[in-house]
Amino acid sequence: MKAAVATAYRQPLVLAEVPDPGIGVLEVLIRVKACGVCHSDVHIVDGDFTWGSRLPVILGHEVAGIVEGLGAEVHHLNVGDRVGLPWLQATCGHCRFCIQGEDVLCTAQKATGLNVDGGYAELVCAPARSVTVIPDSIDLVEAAPLFCAGVTVFTPFQYAGYRTGDRVAVLGIGGLGHLAVQFARALGAEVIAVSRGPEKLQLARQLGAHHGIDLSKDNLAQALQALGGADLILAPTLDADSMTAAIDGLAADGTLVVLAGGRKPVQFTGGQLIGGRKRIMGSVAGSRKDMRATLEFAARHAIRPQIEMHPLEAANEALDRVRENKPRFRAVLLPNQN
Ligand SMILES: [Zn+2]
Ligand SMILES: [Zn+2]
Repeated sequence: MKAAVATAYRQPLVLAEVPDPGIGVLEVLIRVKACGVCHSDVHIVDGDFTWGSRLPVILGHEVAGIVEGLGAEVHHLNVGDRVGLPWLQATCGHCRFCIQGEDVLCTAQKATGLNVDGGYAELVCAPARSVTVIPDSIDLVEAAPLFCAGVTVFTPFQYAGYRTGDRVAVLGIGGLGHLAVQFARALGAEVIAVSRGPEKLQLARQLGAHHGIDLSKDNLAQALQALGGADLILAPTLDADSMTAAIDGLAADGTLVVLAGGRKPVQFTGGQLIGGRKRIMGSVAGSRKDMRATLEFAARHAIRPQIEMHPLEAANEALDRVRENKPRFRAVLLPNQN
């Protein structure tokens, strides 16, 4: 099969012919129809994720495709099913978090496209229990970004104390943020898009944002407080300064959810959190139950990513565009286009 393989850090992916993956008895073989390009992929090729990475590896953890083969012990899927494969690929299955259905908190994880091969390839093999069937109403190519960007921004609404009608700010309108705006709107929030410059704010309004705050001219905390303060701020951004600036824009009992990590620290004093009982929390992708919930909600409310499509052969160009935040809003590779 054709694949784009990371063979060395900070070097272009190598487009190569590699052996088709073999199917284990509990595994499923997927013909990849689409694979999103996530900013995490840039971090992986840059060698930033030293805690779990492996070389060589085939990147790609926003996989959508068709079941092409099944292991002998897989009985809940059929050849031809439309399925997706997320970042979270395998967990221990027996720690307290796995037992509670919070497999994303398991400390013994294998991650697609990090330490097991992912979807920048014509075929990918994965444990059958880690894939989720894609609802019929979602196009396969549009489904792909829901497997990382989508679940990452939908999950915090379940765990960060969100209540219908809350004021939700989305800090950064990109691959994740443009989906967060849509989920927030569909969940009944008053939605505030925060970005730099008018272009993305205009797009965010088209996607459902009620308000826009322009970081190039507005004081973020003051602008949020002028709207009443944010009950929930989702921060799918590497801009630590904006996260720092957002804390004083929280309403009492509000929560800032950090969804992306850069090297620069987010800064705050205890006093900023104590008064008004404010919280800062992190959130990562989601468990299998969150993945299923994300897809079902997106199907029901017609939430779709805005995508640009590239052939597998243009994987390096797509990664470069993601590195420079150029896609509006998600780049997707099509490994079986021909
Ligand atoms: Zn991702
Ligand atoms: Zn576990």
